Amino acid sequence: MSERKKLDRRDFMRGAAAVAFTGATWAAVGEKTETKYWQLDPAKCTQCGRCTTHCVLTPSAVKCLNQFDICGYCDLCFGYLQPGSRNLDTGAENQLCPTAAIERKYIEAPYYEYKIHEDKCIGCAKCVKACLVFGNGSFYLQIRQDICINCNECSIAKSCPSDCFSEVPESNPYMFLTGDTHLAHPPA
Ligand code: SF4
Ligand code: SF4
Ligand code: SF4
Repeated sequence: MSERKKLDRRDFMRGAAAVAFTGATWAAVGEKTETKYWQLDPAKCTQCGRCTTHCVLTPSAVKCLNQFDICGYCDLCFGYLQPGSRNLDTGAENQLCPTAAIERKYIEAPYYEYKIHEDKCIGCAKCVKACLVFGNGSFYLQIRQDICINCNECSIAKSCPSDCFSEVPESNPYMFLTGDTHLAHPPA
């Protein structure tokens, strides 16, 4: 092998090693430095109510979301109505939500859309529980990352009885119910 060819081969091997090292190093650094955010797993949640009382923020950074693709758009929505409500109307006395954060909107007979106004939601999970027991289970809780201040130790995580909380990567900060996509959009 000529001296020139030996050098070319040596340079290539050095270059390849450098690229491999750099790639591996950046991958490792990327893994280590990616910011983590607290999030709760809606599949584990037992709607104990601590998400509303144990967040350091008031109101809580935990909000309810409606997964529209599994919602039944029910006329008689138990996530919306107080048990035993006589009237299917929007009177405050008929609503289960303590802050009137759920808007009931007529679509077409016999369907209604239930939209959560997150600015009013305190994450109490009353609607989540009722929808799970009597409906399709389309309401669920999530920490809103644009509100949460990402405490070192999440005080809700410390008190959650169902071990729902974990730290998730910045690139994937929400835990969806199957098929949900509406969190891809900024909150209303
Ligand atoms: S503390 Fe845990 S179980 Fe209770 S409502 Fe929050 S996520 Fe659900
Ligand atoms: S019932 Fe509770 S969790 Fe559901 S929308 Fe109202 S405040 Fe939010
Ligand atoms: S990390 Fe802090 S601000 Fe965020 S949900 Fe937990 S207690 Fe609330």
